[in-house]
Amino acid sequence: MRRVYLDNAATTPMRQEAMEEMVAVYRDCFGNSASVHSFGREARRCLERARMEVAGALGADPEEILFTSGGTESDNLAIKGVAWALRERGRHIVTSAVEHHAVLHCCEALEKEGFEVTYLPVDRHGRVDPADVERALRKDTILVSVMLANNETGVIQPLEEISKMARERDIPVHTDAVQALGKVPVDVRKLGVDLLSVSGHKFHGPKGVGALYVRRGTKLSPIFHGGGHERGLRPGTVNVPSIAAMARALSLAVAEMEEIAAKLSFLREKLYRGVVERIGDVRVNGSSPGEPVPCLPNILNLSFLGAEGEALLMALDMEGIAVSTGSACSSGDVEPSHVLLAMGVPPEVARCGIRFSLGRYNTEEEIERVVEVLPRLVERIRSISPRWIRDGARTGGAGPSG
Ligand code: PLP
Repeated sequence: MRRVYLDNAATTPMRQEAMEEMVAVYRDCFGNSASVHSFGREARRCLERARMEVAGALGADPEEILFTSGGTESDNLAIKGVAWALRERGRHIVTSAVEHHAVLHCCEALEKEGFEVTYLPVDRHGRVDPADVERALRKDTILVSVMLANNETGVIQPLEEISKMARERDIPVHTDAVQALGKVPVDVRKLGVDLLSVSGHKFHGPKGVGALYVRRGTKLSPIFHGGGHERGLRPGTVNVPSIAAMARALSLAVAEMEEIAAKLSFLREKLYRGVVERIGDVRVNGSSPGEPVPCLPNILNLSFLGAEGEALLMALDMEGIAVSTGSACSSGDVEPSHVLLAMGVPPEVARCGIRFSLGRYNTEEEIERVVEVLPRLVERIRSISPRWIRDGARTGGAGPSG
């Protein structure tokens, strides 16, 4: 059976060029970048080349890039780092209800330390209203953290407007750009942000490596303590081979972005049209193709009403098709996605949410296969869903539409 991977928002396969770069650095440039001898100097040259490449891709200066172990660490360093550095100035943070857990749980940890956090609501598409940001800002606000694109729906936030309001009040702005990078143009100066998180494995680079853009002059405390690596802000022997591979993958992703984004948009639309033509009672969570809500070209989140997302995910997996749900398992229960709930999606519809996330290696034939397989699986799950049968019987038709 040929498998189909439609979970590229979870992680992507590493591209050949990045793999070759990583192997070459491990082989030819294995020194510790902090060592003084020639082996160390070679590794350092390699590291600084990668820093220039990442900075170039973001429109930043090389000295504004710190390397980390990934998106989660970058988010932690940005949020805790600013909060701890500015705690004398204030203790209020503004974020949104639809952030990744790397941001939300970080904020919750800070609340336990006495910080106060405002979680901004979103509209039915999952967008933050910049006017809500303005209203939330206070004299003691020390950070605004709003993601660039959502990992469950792909919906893009009006970040330029948000950061403008914060910057006018001299409040630093962080954005988690983990999903957006390589899919839509990302320029730190244009966005007007002070900190921006990057994760290597979302654009066909290696796992366990990332970066944080920190605008020159931004006050930041380290969250780890150790040696003086990365200007003392991120101590620990630097993972030069992975960083070099990430930089290569990022440069290629940015260079090929227009072409790949067009392909992804085409495949996303094909998937959407194919599904809604063949299956009834399907809801789009976020933005459907053609809607004027800005969205990443590769993510489509659909609720097949009456078909529990986890059950559909497993049925698709049996067919060799990998997708995901935004649900979280807590003590044996499946909790609906916090993102969909914040968008006002009813819990029973949120529980039916499936995220299809496409990548550069997906093909039209793969989408055709998914569209062919789905109706049968959805029908099978609906036919054994007590709620669907009960409500369907009540409305006398094809099941609930709300
Ligand atoms: N932020 C967003 C929006 C993500 O989608 C992810 C990963 O799923 C992360 C942060 C965490 O990144 P990492 O897996 O590199 O820790």
